[in-house]
Amino acid sequence: MTNYWTETVSRLTPYVPGVQRSGAGIVKLNTNENPYPPSPKVMEAIAAVNGDQLRRYPDPESVALRTALAEYHGLDISQVFVGNGSDEILALAFLAYFTNHKVLQFPDISYSFYPVYCDLYGIQARTVPLSDDYVLPVERFEPNAGGIVFPNPNAPTARAVDESSIAGLLVRHTEQVLLVDEAYADFGATSVVSLVKRFPNLLVSQTYSKGRSLAGMRLGVAFGHPTLIEGLQRVKNSFNSYPVDAVAQAAGIASLGDEAYYRQTIEQILRTRRQAVTDLQNRGFEVLPSAANFLFARAPGDEAGRIFRKLDDAGVLVRYWDKPRLNQWLRISMGTDDEMQRLMSALDA
Ligand SMILES: *Cc1c(COP(=O)(O)O)cnc(C)c1O
Repeated sequence: MTNYWTETVSRLTPYVPGVQRSGAGIVKLNTNENPYPPSPKVMEAIAAVNGDQLRRYPDPESVALRTALAEYHGLDISQVFVGNGSDEILALAFLAYFTNHKVLQFPDISYSFYPVYCDLYGIQARTVPLSDDYVLPVERFEPNAGGIVFPNPNAPTARAVDESSIAGLLVRHTEQVLLVDEAYADFGATSVVSLVKRFPNLLVSQTYSKGRSLAGMRLGVAFGHPTLIEGLQRVKNSFNSYPVDAVAQAAGIASLGDEAYYRQTIEQILRTRRQAVTDLQNRGFEVLPSAANFLFARAPGDEAGRIFRKLDDAGVLVRYWDKPRLNQWLRISMGTDDEMQRLMSALDA
C-alpha cells in the first residue's frame, strides 16, 4: 500500500525510548526515572486543580510557574522558559538556534535524541569524541564553528565537566549558542544556570522528570538571556501555544515549594548510588564516577550483552546499546535499595 509520508518523514530514524514494561516483580532501572514519588505537596496541588482550571485553557506563558522558577534561581522571569518536558525544549531550541546552515557540535557518545533532531531539521552534525575514559574534552569543540550541545552530566556516561571548563568554553565561543542539557544536574554536578547572567549565548535546560519525580507529567525548564528565551517563545507560539497544561503548572510550583522533600529524596538516591558502586565493583564491574541518578558500568568478561539479556529474563530492566564503545557497558538507573538488592541478586544468579 502507498503511504502518504513526505520524503522527510520517510527518511527519519526516530528516537527509541527505554521500554516501559511494568508489572508485578519488574525492577525498572532502564529510563532514569526517580524511584520515589513526588512530594506530598505536589500530589495535593494536583488534587486541588478544579474543573474551572481544566475547562479553560492554561496560562499560555506559565507566568506563575516561571515567576517561581525565576525566584528560585535568582533570575528575572524573562530569563525563564518552560515546556512539555525538556525534550520539547530541546526540539524548540534546535529549531530556534541551530537551523542556520552551520554545523552543530556534540559528543560522539551522548544523548541519542540530538542526532534525531538534526535529522528532523536537516542540521549537519559534527561529533567530538570522548576521551578513552569517557571524559568530555570541551577544548575539542571548535569555537564559533557552529552551535554546541551536551548534557552535563553526560548521558549515558554519568560523567560531569566542571563550571570553569564551561565558562572557559563560553569565553572562546561567542558567536553561536551553547546549550547545556542539565537533565541530571540535581544529582551532584554543578549547575551553570547562574552563568546565563554573564553569557548571552548560553541556554541551560533542566527537567522535572528525574530529580523531581515527575516524568509522567512532562515538565521541562530552560534558562537564558531574554533574547534566547524570546527565540524559544517565537518557535513555541508558531507550533503550540499551550504546551504546559494547568495541572503541570500547579505541580511545578508546588514542587519548588517543598525543598526539604526534594533534598531528602536526592540524598537517599546518592546513598544508594554509593552502595551500588561498591556492590558492582565487588562483582567485577568497572564503574565510571557518576554525577547522575544512574551508573555506567563495564561488565566483567566482555559479557554486557549477555548479562543484559539475562537480567531482562529475570525482570530486571537496565539499558544496553549494541554499539561500538558502548557494547561492553550497562547503564543502570538508581532504584530503591530493595530494587538494587534485586539487581545484585540477579547478577549473582
Ligand atoms: C531524560 C533526559 C532528557 C529529557 O527529559 P524530559 O524532560 O523528560 O523530556 C533530556 N536530556 C537528557 C540528557 C535526558 O537524559
